[in-house]
Amino acid sequence: GSTIGILGGGQLGRMMAMSAAQLGYRCIGYAPEGDNVMSAVCDGFVTAEWDDEAALAGFAAQCDVVTWEFENVPVTTARAIPAEKIFPDPIALETAQDRLTEKRFIEGLGGKPAAYDKVDSTNDLITAVDRYGAPGILKTRRDGYDGKGQWRIMSVREAQALRVPDVPCVYEGFVEFDAEFSVILVRTQDGEIRFWDSTRNIHESGILAASRYPAGAEIEHHVAHARELARKVADALKYVGVLTLEFFATHEGPVFNEMAPRVHNSGHWTIEGAATSQFENHIRAVAGLPLGDTRTTAAAVEMRNILGSEIDGAAAKLSDSRVHLHDYGKAEASEGRKMGHITQISRDTRA
Ligand code: ATP
Ligand code: MG
Ligand code: MG
Repeated sequence: GSTIGILGGGQLGRMMAMSAAQLGYRCIGYAPEGDNVMSAVCDGFVTAEWDDEAALAGFAAQCDVVTWEFENVPVTTARAIPAEKIFPDPIALETAQDRLTEKRFIEGLGGKPAAYDKVDSTNDLITAVDRYGAPGILKTRRDGYDGKGQWRIMSVREAQALRVPDVPCVYEGFVEFDAEFSVILVRTQDGEIRFWDSTRNIHESGILAASRYPAGAEIEHHVAHARELARKVADALKYVGVLTLEFFATHEGPVFNEMAPRVHNSGHWTIEGAATSQFENHIRAVAGLPLGDTRTTAAAVEMRNILGSEIDGAAAKLSDSRVHLHDYGKAEASEGRKMGHITQISRDTRA
């Protein structure tokens, strides 16, 4: 069989590698030293820095196809893999790694992000807060996740008092949303696109807490419109694999939040709740296999993240036979860290 390389070492790659193994592929990971939960389910793992050219060349030579599970893989690392081997095209990383580039790209395709301005100084921030009002959120342009690198600003006075970080940022007007949802799609090398059902995503302290299907009417009537944008994004990037766009559902239609050029936490429910999971279809797409059916097979699904020490005793939840537990096997359960998730499936259609 052939070999799939995965850049990264986290839980997304772990679940991807499990799907790859099911399909008969060998899997090799690549990531710098760190808390790695992927190597346990891979056939091999290269531990090296992102800019280690010799290690990267050796890794690429062992792989027939390479993909990533981590959205902050340096673009130069992805481009060091021969272009005919890496999917999606690294242009997707380049676009999504910088919130400013990403928002401009989305606007170019007719999408609507929250009102925003680029911020490189306290003065810029005060101007932006004047222009777009408060509350709003200051975000670093790069490297943020789980709400890290974000500061909520309630007034111009707060903006004046804030020590703006020494890295490029954007200020976003606060979106008064009814709900949050994501659009997750998979696209093949031939340009075929399939969507999973959208879930309602519930965040607590900037971290995804839960995803629920059905998403509810205030989301459902925005999904077609949001999918249109997601399709344009995927086509424009000649995207191959699973792509995610996060949206706010508002009275004025779907407002784009951000995109992730990868499988997504809000798609974990597809492992048990859809005919084919996001992980399996990502592997199928990058490997050039036909896509599996993305339809939802349950009447209702709820995925809940398990954060920090909540992982202790999580197995007790299995006393409810509708519950599926995924423990990522992380060594350190620091506060707010994603340690696992549970998916509760209801097949009762109450027909
Ligand atoms: P992720 O882990 O999804 O990559 P992130 O750190 O990139 O998260 P965002 O998606 O930008 O963060 O924001 C996290 C959450 O904060 C959003 O899902 C939403 O609940 C809230 N949020 C972010 N930006 C805004 C906004 N402009 N208006 C209202 N709420 C917002
Ligand atoms: Mg993000
Ligand atoms: Mg987000």
